[in-house]
Amino acid sequence: MTTRAFVTGWPVKHSKSPALHGFWLEEHGIDGTYEAVAVDEPGFPGFLREFGERGFAGGNVTIPHKEAAFRLVEMADGAATAIGAVNTVWLENGRLCGGNTDAYGFTANLDECAPGWRSAATTTVLGAGGAARAIVYALCTAGLEKVQIVNRTVARAETLASQFGEKCTAAGLGEAGQLLPGTDLLVNTTAMGMSGGDTADLPRLEQLPSHAIVADIVYTPLETTLLNAAKNQGLQTVDGLGMLLHQAVPGFERWFGIRPQVTPALRNHIVGLL
Ligand code: NAP
Repeated sequence: MTTRAFVTGWPVKHSKSPALHGFWLEEHGIDGTYEAVAVDEPGFPGFLREFGERGFAGGNVTIPHKEAAFRLVEMADGAATAIGAVNTVWLENGRLCGGNTDAYGFTANLDECAPGWRSAATTTVLGAGGAARAIVYALCTAGLEKVQIVNRTVARAETLASQFGEKCTAAGLGEAGQLLPGTDLLVNTTAMGMSGGDTADLPRLEQLPSHAIVADIVYTPLETTLLNAAKNQGLQTVDGLGMLLHQAVPGFERWFGIRPQVTPALRNHIVGLL
């Protein structure tokens, strides 16, 4: 019988997930489908209740439904509970279950692209939105000593820092310059540097030590303004596409029963669609 999975969001047509999962389905010769299903906010609770009856084994949840999905699932895994958002859903004995694979995707990508990153003592995270929650959770669970959260709206940075314990501190964007000399890993989670985005408040990187790793989770464009500046300075960089690819692995395995690999061929396939 054909196994069906979905990605749902509003809108959802921009999602790269159908191409990503479609690549793996074809690669492994699996009798399965992965479909984009546009569901608006009022319709989302009903969709989550009924996807099993509609023949889906599970799926991915994207903007703007991740927080609502967390509230609606009957069982949430540890990452989803800590982050307060669900991006992967499935059914277990009829129970609606949810997980969050964004933190896994982020760390798996760093493990692949910058294997020494776990010895970074001090990380600076730019941003305090939904994605930053997953990144801060990932960094804290990986055992990094200090996580400095820097955000345009300081109050959001303070709230996020307070939720993840004493390793985390909060600051405004204006203070980034003072924090960079002691930063081993810099992660951008803000829209700054996106295609057409506002880059005026991006910190200047000259003050970063020469061993620093600079990662951006934004992947449109693949080489963001921040990564371009870091490369020009000879720093090691990690782009955001790998996180997107790696976060999809646990869901695919859960629905289709095979743990897929993130390969250069997959990456090239998705880069061709950006
Ligand atoms: P969000 O919840 O809306 O948060 C946006 C963050 O960016 C906030 O901290 C916001 O600061 C900051 N920001 C926005 N515009 C800014 C500007 N002009 N100057 C300074 N700060 C600015 O968004 P999100 O869900 O966290 O997503 C953020 C980005 O991560 C998106 O581009 C998304 O595509 C990307 N992402 C990538 C992956 C991946 O797999 N690679 C996964 C998830 C998300 P304020 O709090 O001051 O508003």
